[in-house]
Amino acid sequence: MTRGRQRGGQSRNNNSKAPSQAILDLPVAKNEDVEVEIIGLTHEGEGVGRVEGYTLFIGGALPGERVRAKVLKVKKQYGYAKLLEVMVASPDRIAPPCEIYKQCGGCQLQHWSYEAQLDWKRQHVVDNLERIGKLKVGGSVDGETSEGLSEEARIVVHPTLGMNDPWRYRNKAQVPMGMAEEGGLIGGFYARNSHRIIDMDACLIQHDQNDDIVRRVKSIGRDLGVTAYNEETGEGLLRHVVVRVGFRTGELMVVLVTNGAKLPRVEAWIEAIRAQVPGVESICQNINTKRTNVIFGDVTKTLWGRDVIYDYIGDVKFAISARSFYQVNPVQTEVLYGKTLEYAGLTGSETVIDAYCGIGTISLFLAQHAKRVYGVEIVPEAIEDARANAALNGISNAEFEVGAAEDVMPRWLEQGVTPDVVVVDPPRKGCDERLLETLLTMQPERIVYVSCNPATLARDLRVLEDGGYRVKEVQPVDMFPHTVHVECVVSTYRKDLIEGQ
Ligand code: SAH
Repeated sequence: MTRGRQRGGQSRNNNSKAPSQAILDLPVAKNEDVEVEIIGLTHEGEGVGRVEGYTLFIGGALPGERVRAKVLKVKKQYGYAKLLEVMVASPDRIAPPCEIYKQCGGCQLQHWSYEAQLDWKRQHVVDNLERIGKLKVGGSVDGETSEGLSEEARIVVHPTLGMNDPWRYRNKAQVPMGMAEEGGLIGGFYARNSHRIIDMDACLIQHDQNDDIVRRVKSIGRDLGVTAYNEETGEGLLRHVVVRVGFRTGELMVVLVTNGAKLPRVEAWIEAIRAQVPGVESICQNINTKRTNVIFGDVTKTLWGRDVIYDYIGDVKFAISARSFYQVNPVQTEVLYGKTLEYAGLTGSETVIDAYCGIGTISLFLAQHAKRVYGVEIVPEAIEDARANAALNGISNAEFEVGAAEDVMPRWLEQGVTPDVVVVDPPRKGCDERLLETLLTMQPERIVYVSCNPATLARDLRVLEDGGYRVKEVQPVDMFPHTVHVECVVSTYRKDLIEGQ
């Protein structure tokens, strides 16, 4: 028995407990110091500790550790505690390289070695597939295929594909601006659980050019005497500085998001940015006067240069405007789409549907290898971008439609569209039920599921399994190193087509 359990046991008779807790007979009490073994990590990156079967969530604690923690909140099924001391550290615990890691909250796993993060991401997917999807996961060795596995353990979840250099991977910075107490423009991040802005000059997951440009733009703003927007009063001008860089082209865009249409000394802004940001191709102003924490408003003006910058994913060129949705980790996007293409198994004669297509990135990536691609997406501007990007690349076998995928796909079915392959890449809440039903009626040979949420992925894969599809391989891809986000690509086949394999 661990000391933690003994202590928990002792506290059972602790008279200082609140009456309601005593009635519930919980092994811990609020404000108590406990020693806890950490047995897992939540999807938000908190350590999961157990005291006599009672679950305590402890931020900053890692699996395999023994920690001392102070109980902050006690509920019937679980509670929260604050990490006081790591008594036995995980061998994978490391000193977070970022100086502001604790205050910022943008990353959650920097205190864990990158290898441990990748292992956990794979295991997190496996746990969800088994618990929520009731799916049987077999091999884990890379290169293994599901053919060699028994019927009971036939899904291969590969090791997470990580980055060789998991730092400075983001191509977009969106930095909120504020005023220092002594006056003057600052910009950085919101302190954890608050909207107080803390000045920051370096973010280690951001392309270093973006850091550098934000620093320069802040300094230009200070020189020009611009005021920062204040969320509480609704006054002040500059809300955010957004910087985008094309990793492959090196092109740069600077966007000033302002609370109001008028930007005083606009010529001086342009001159200073052009002088201090070599390679800038586009300087824009986005106007957002709403009392909201949504970054962009509806109107964007190009102050200087082009409306867009260009970048490539594989051989496909994309025009990226100030507000376009574009994958933020371009290196891993190629890995993710490469797997999607592999699982789609295209020979050039297939009809493909790309549901939840965004600006058509996957559609256009696949179009080169398919007969025809249909993309559907709910945001009209994204479909405009998708069409423009198809034209930019001379791709004429892709067409795009605005609408909810669950409404548009049944219509396509009625019109006689019979896809061989369907790719779905839904938001965190997963696929709409009606979309899954339509898929089961459409009966494509293969469904490739790209997912940013293993829980809804597992739920949806169960529906596909019950509807006649077999889940074969799952490939986690680390799109967001040092954060808890887990992305994966899944290959599924119609069971009747792989009988006997
Ligand atoms: N496949 C794209 C985008 C994936 S993000 C890429 O790789 O870049 C998920 C997309 O689904 C978002 O663009 C979002 O706007 C869109 N979306 C959300 N709900 C939708 C729905 N019901 N029907 C169609 N698209 C939807």
